Parts: sequence; structure tokens; C-alpha cells
Amino acid sequence: MTSAGPVSPTGSADLFARAQRVTPGGVNSPVRAFNAVGGTPRFIRSARGAWLTDVDGNDYVDLICSWGPMLLGHAHPQVQEAVTEAVSRGTSYGTPTVPEVELAEEIVTRTPIEKVRFVSSGTEATMSAIRLARGFTGRDTIVKFAGCYHGHVDSLLAQAGSGLATHAVTSTPGVPEAFVAETLVIPYNDPQALAAVFAEHGHKIAALITEAAPGNMGVVPPLPGFNKLLADTCREHGALFISDEVMTGFRASRQGQWGLDGAHEGWRPDLITFGKVMGGGFPAAAFGGRADVMSRLSPEGPVYQAGTLSGNPIATTAGLATLRLATDEVYDHITAAGETIKAAVTETFTAAGLPHRIQATGTMFSVFFRDGEVRNFDDANAQSLPAYTAFFHSMLDAGVYLPPSAYETWFLSGAHDDRAIQTVLDALPAAARAAAA
Ligand code: PLP
Repeated sequence: MTSAGPVSPTGSADLFARAQRVTPGGVNSPVRAFNAVGGTPRFIRSARGAWLTDVDGNDYVDLICSWGPMLLGHAHPQVQEAVTEAVSRGTSYGTPTVPEVELAEEIVTRTPIEKVRFVSSGTEATMSAIRLARGFTGRDTIVKFAGCYHGHVDSLLAQAGSGLATHAVTSTPGVPEAFVAETLVIPYNDPQALAAVFAEHGHKIAALITEAAPGNMGVVPPLPGFNKLLADTCREHGALFISDEVMTGFRASRQGQWGLDGAHEGWRPDLITFGKVMGGGFPAAAFGGRADVMSRLSPEGPVYQAGTLSGNPIATTAGLATLRLATDEVYDHITAAGETIKAAVTETFTAAGLPHRIQATGTMFSVFFRDGEVRNFDDANAQSLPAYTAFFHSMLDAGVYLPPSAYETWFLSGAHDDRAIQTVLDALPAAARAAAA
């Protein structure tokens, strides 16, 4: 696939106008609309390997990878073959099937969970994990971190009130204050705030939920030992520790973020949520954990949870094929590609005099348009959004599709080969200069 140079995205612009007449903002998930960076979102016609092709025929190196799922790249032949074969046998039965058992076994083998339940989105996974934690503990209060995103669950669409350990306020119209009254929001990577919130509310906290390594405010790795501290603090107070690995699961490493810390430090979350990679590009997600906690779930236990398309045979087939193909070599390849891009970012941004900070956890990384360590949401917010906008558009014009927001992880895949990486490297110097201007 070669690009004959950028063609004005008139086809995308026409489609965007059409879409806006029938869909709010013209998109089915807000960040796709380019509101943060302006301009026309590209309507993608097809994708293969590391490349996206828009409706005007422009090719782009994809650094979004569907916001994480496409670990192997687009249209991987063996995933396609497995899916095509599965589709030929029908698409949904509403009965138990073979691939969901096999995918559950694969996930239980790779991760520290004992039992898993499939759902259709990461939002459903975190929503269900919270309900289960409340049902299991008989408590209502949830602790979350500012800047951690867990999908659009009502009780988690909350932001910090003033002070270190205060009750949350809703972060969107449509969520009654009563729905977040039991949510406490504290700053990330802050052991003091953690201690304070548990000292005051510990006896009524059902669960603490955290992104295993936040990737939704840019990549903000947990400080060494921070996840262990969360696990220990929860245990001490009889609360459950929910590690949200929707983004990091099977992505940050073969065993997700847990493979980078918990596996060595000797602790396990009580519940983990998964999504993205485990669906291989289809709507599949999961939550799982300790057998005694999971056994409280319907039909074994009293906590209700269900789904018409949960464990869908096509989605679980795609997920299973993806996980089976996600070998150490794939992760090594993504790591090496990331190192090359990170080195080039450092070099070109430094040459352009552009303040920047690269942060990573395992194979995941992002670039902040500011100097200095980013430990929490306040730090992440102190970056230059105009600089990112200029950078983003210069990269897009040069055929590199970055996330249209400064707060996102840059995703790579096993299919990002030398040509794709070189396209990124070639685009960086001018984009860095544009951002620095
Ligand atoms: N949790 C995390 C950490 C996420 O990154 C996301 C989505 O980006 C979600 C939950 C929600 O997943 P979904 O968009 O599939 O509902």
C-alpha cells in the first residue's frame, strides 16, 4: 500500500456532514470527532497491518490501533480465517459455546484470576465488577482516582471535590449527585491521600478501582510498589481491590500490567476487568477474579448480571485467535518499535526546543507536551494542548494517524514494520517544529 501524497479529505468531510445530521456530533464515541484538535475526522474505508486507508484513498500509519485492541495489526490473516470460519457456522446462539470456554481458559491461565465472566464492553466489565464488589462486601462506597477512566459507568463518571479525600461530584449532566454520593475520588500515586481516605471511610468501602497503569490521562505508571500498597490497604480494610486492565490487559505485557508488577511482588487483585485486546477487534470484555468473589455472581450466587451477546462466538473466536498469536515475539517487536519512536521523539523535540516528557509502562507509552515527571491528573493537565494540536495535524498531513487528544496512549502493533516506523520517523521533525512554533 503506497500513498500518492495526501488528497484533500473531501470524502471524509462530506461523510462527516452527513453523519452530523443523523448522529450527535457525527460520531459514535466523542473523541473520534476531533473536537480537541479541530479539523475533519478521517472516515476509514479499510485497514491492513499497520495502515489505515480513508475514503479518499489516503494511507496513514495507525498509532491508535482502535484504542488498543489491534495488538496484531489490522486484518491479521489467521484471525480473519478463524473469524470467517466461525461466521460460516452462525453468529450468535444465546447458548454456551466452545470458544467462550477456550477463551476463559486462556485468560485464567495467563492472569491471576480464577474465574471469568464475559460481557460486551469495558464499561460493562467495570460496572459489573463494582456491583459484584458491593454485593460481596455488603458495603456501598467506591474509591477511584482522578484521571482514571473506567468507561461511562454512572458512579464512575465523577470528579474530585475539593480536598484530599472528599465525596465526588458528577462530571456529566445526566448522572444524579446521588449516583456518585458513594464514590470517593483521590489523586493518583498519592499514598497519603490513600491512607486518609481509608482512615476516614475504610469500614464502608466496598472496593477501590484503579487503572492497573493509567493510560487515559496519557501513560502515568504507578510508582514502584503503589499497586501493592493499594492491594494491601484494601485487604487491611476488608475492601476489594479492582484492577482495571481493560487497556493494559494483554497489551502492556503478555500478562498485562500485573505481569509487570504483581507477578513479581507477590500480590493479586481481587477482581480484574479486561477488554480491548481480548476481543481481537470485536465487542468483548470480561471481569474475573477470586473464585469466592465470582461465585457470588448469578446464577451461582445472588448478584445479578447478564447479556444477550455476552461471550458471543465470533468475538470470543477473534479474541482467542488474537491471544494465541500474541507470543513473546509480538511483545518484543512492539517494544522495539516503541523504543525507536521514543528515541526519535526525544531527538526531534529536543532539536526543536519543544518541552516534552515520554512515559511508558511495558509496551505502552505516551508523550506529554510538558517537561517533568507526570504522576497524576493535575500534572497531566499542565501540558500544552495547542502544541499537541499543531503536532497532531502535521503528523496527520504526513500520513500518521495519532490519537486526536493529548491525553491518550500511542498504540503500536506487531504489524508496525520498518516502512510504517520510517513513515513516523520521517514525519516527526516537521511536526516537532510546528508544535514548537
Ligand atoms: N477501562 C479502561 C481502563 C478503559 O481504557 C476503557 C476504555 O477506553 C474502559 C474501561 C471502557 O471500555 P469500553 O470503551 O469498551 O466501554
